[in-house]
Amino acid sequence: MNRLTKKIFAAVLAVVSLGALAGCGSSTVETSGPKITIGIKFDQPGVGYKEGDSYSGFDVDVARYVAKQLGYSEKQIVWKEAPSAQREALLQNGDVDFIIASYSITADRKKVVDFAGPYFVAGQDLLVRSDDKSITSAKDLNGKNLCTVSGSTSAQVIKDNFAKSVQIMELSGYAECVTALISGTVDAVTTDDIILAGLAHAKGNGLLKVLGKPFTKETYGIGVKKGDSQLVTTINAALKKMVSDGTWQKDLTKETGGTGYTPNKEWNPPTKFNAENSDETVRQ
Ligand code: GLU
Repeated sequence: MNRLTKKIFAAVLAVVSLGALAGCGSSTVETSGPKITIGIKFDQPGVGYKEGDSYSGFDVDVARYVAKQLGYSEKQIVWKEAPSAQREALLQNGDVDFIIASYSITADRKKVVDFAGPYFVAGQDLLVRSDDKSITSAKDLNGKNLCTVSGSTSAQVIKDNFAKSVQIMELSGYAECVTALISGTVDAVTTDDIILAGLAHAKGNGLLKVLGKPFTKETYGIGVKKGDSQLVTTINAALKKMVSDGTWQKDLTKETGGTGYTPNKEWNPPTKFNAENSDETVRQ
């Protein structure tokens, strides 16, 4: 038995035995029992967000659903921040059991970690100031200052495709990029459309807009430690259930409602949980 399988076994045993003690077998019986550590983003409203002691966003909803299918109650989840550049290391070091953090499945990442999913498909886009008419597509970034986050596919796409003509400011998180955009230090922020929509809505004060012309396909996977195929299979079964029982749609609508964001209907919800790579080809 690997580490997580042992923990899942212990969690199920704890719930069952407490249920038996209570004489009802009810799933509402709480146990402090074993914990599961899940890596999420803390600075992406609507996706992965920490405010005080509460955690919200679609990634968090997916994490809660998957954890429940694995036998863990909400109280048994330990949330750990998983910034873009640290995700592989967190998995490799065993600091987290899995990561749900707007984590695109890519060929490079698959060399060092494994993925369940995808559970969502986004696309890279641009966030600009609402009154800026000079940027209507990625091509207009020539000579402009662009903020992107270290360790993200977004940074790589920009480096590969626009690096010659754009000044890139690479920061450690999305909140920092938004501050730089509002203050005028940069002219645009780039990452996935679902993240930008949440940032504009929650942090933009009406001053920011998403262009709405995504130029990559980002398939979001759940990162697990390399070689843990059993966990991948279990998580995939949970994701399939989340889509088929309607929870996936309900949660996505709840998290993106009011942001003006419409997920790509052709790509969502994913129907094949085969860890298909993101398409890093820029489409403009
Ligand atoms: N989905 C992209 C990635 O995995 C960008 C979002 C992020 O940095 O989490 O790199």
